[in-house]
Amino acid sequence: MKHSNIPIFIPELACPHQCIFCNQSKISGQKDIPQPENIPAIIESHLATMNDGREIEIAFFGGSFTGIPYDLQERYLSVAYNYIEAGKINGIRLSTRPDYINEKILDLLKRYGVKTIELGAQSTDDTVLLASGRGHKSEAIRQASELILKNGFHLGLQMMIGLPQDNYERSSKTVDDIISLGADNTRIYPTLVIKGTQLAKLYEMGHYKPLDIPTAVSWAKEFYLRFEKANVKVLRVGLHPSEELDYNKSLLAGPYHKSFMELMMSAIWRDILERELKERHDEQLRLTVNPHQVNFVWGYQGSNKDLFQSKKLEVKISGDESLSKYEIKISHC
Ligand code: SF4
Repeated sequence: MKHSNIPIFIPELACPHQCIFCNQSKISGQKDIPQPENIPAIIESHLATMNDGREIEIAFFGGSFTGIPYDLQERYLSVAYNYIEAGKINGIRLSTRPDYINEKILDLLKRYGVKTIELGAQSTDDTVLLASGRGHKSEAIRQASELILKNGFHLGLQMMIGLPQDNYERSSKTVDDIISLGADNTRIYPTLVIKGTQLAKLYEMGHYKPLDIPTAVSWAKEFYLRFEKANVKVLRVGLHPSEELDYNKSLLAGPYHKSFMELMMSAIWRDILERELKERHDEQLRLTVNPHQVNFVWGYQGSNKDLFQSKKLEVKISGDESLSKYEIKISHC
């Protein structure tokens, strides 16, 4: 069944931390914090475009929801819960920090129909967490994950690649840990340098070097495939484009691309094509793939076409619903 979130961004509300990469209001492009009484209008405006029987969740994102004062959390949740009781939405999901999870909070979330808790884990390496100013160690991620699962919630563990002191091995270990901690979903965010953050200062002083786009795509591609293999759903790769994520506005440096996911999927197909077409030269071929993959086989802005050209292959690509995501049939046309 089709699934949609009604996102409600609560930037930096009650977050006393200053992770060195974070400037939530700039990332979400939103500076005003919606109050509980503003929530129905946001929900209603989304519901008006979602009347096709899909599964809908209200998603409190953008800050550390469970760091909000308890009473205020309850006010937000009770507004959202009215929509569950009315049968208009199926559940609530939210994002928060690992060290803002305890039994009392989980009881509250359970009472108001929260189904999924996404923790901003970012890394499971203590050196990286320390260098990023997260204010907790990887042990907090492990403890919170266990508590969330024990209380019957779905667990999401988000990760960032390219944080200060990060390297391929540390990010790769984070992937292993997210899988073994029992997450059923994740998001992969390449670290960007946003103006006004500590990271921006480090970058300007030459003490931090972000990943470049090819490296970020290459890591994301491998991690994405490992998560898929382990049945951990990857909900997002790369930040949502927003007006602020622009070099003329808040973005200072880093592997930002408005179509990062498409770049990554094109790279996945590049590998498949190189493997499957290894022995093919000077031929007219029809490649048949799942219809959702056709654009990725051509590559972002046709980036995979040079492979066909270098092999003097004349290629037609068609879709067949019966094929699985990475399946390809090759025939002569
Ligand atoms: S905990 Fe989350 S909201 Fe708070 S500074 Fe860090 S990344 Fe930003």
